[in-house]
Amino acid sequence: MNSSDCIFCRIVNNELPCFKVYEDSDFIAFLDIRPANRGHCLIVPKKHYENLLDFDEELLNKMMPVVKKVASAVKKATKADAFNILLNNGKEAGQEVNHVHIHLIPRFKGDQVNISWGRREMSNKELEETTSSIKRELE
Ligand code: AMP
Ligand code: ZN
Repeated sequence: MNSSDCIFCRIVNNELPCFKVYEDSDFIAFLDIRPANRGHCLIVPKKHYENLLDFDEELLNKMMPVVKKVASAVKKATKADAFNILLNNGKEAGQEVNHVHIHLIPRFKGDQVNISWGRREMSNKELEETTSSIKRELE
């Protein structure tokens, strides 16, 4: 995908409007137009990378401090009790916009936002096999 086909590249290039809350030389943060809660922001690198696995390491190191800075401001501004950060990576994980981005979702006591999954039982054998296969890939 080149940048003219990508919604977030078009936002970065000022070809589409957004509710921008933060900008520096590498990142912008703006409100999600279909938020899970008031103050739901997206933190987006200005350069196009599809997902975490092809994302530039140096930018990746710079990204979390930006998330922290914006999270602190959003939490104060919205008087949120807490927040989730989320990176949907791939279609099956819910990624709709193929330009890597972090969701920052303010949370309020008693809100109905649903970021949960069923806790499944797994045998020690399965846990051991999974551990071994991941460690093999990391060697
Ligand atoms: P994801 O499913 O992780 O790819 O999330 C994409 C998010 O981008 C969704 O929550 C959308 O509501 C949001 N979104 C899509 N288009 C825009 C836009 N033009 N401005 C702001 N947020 C957008
Ligand atoms: Zn893009």
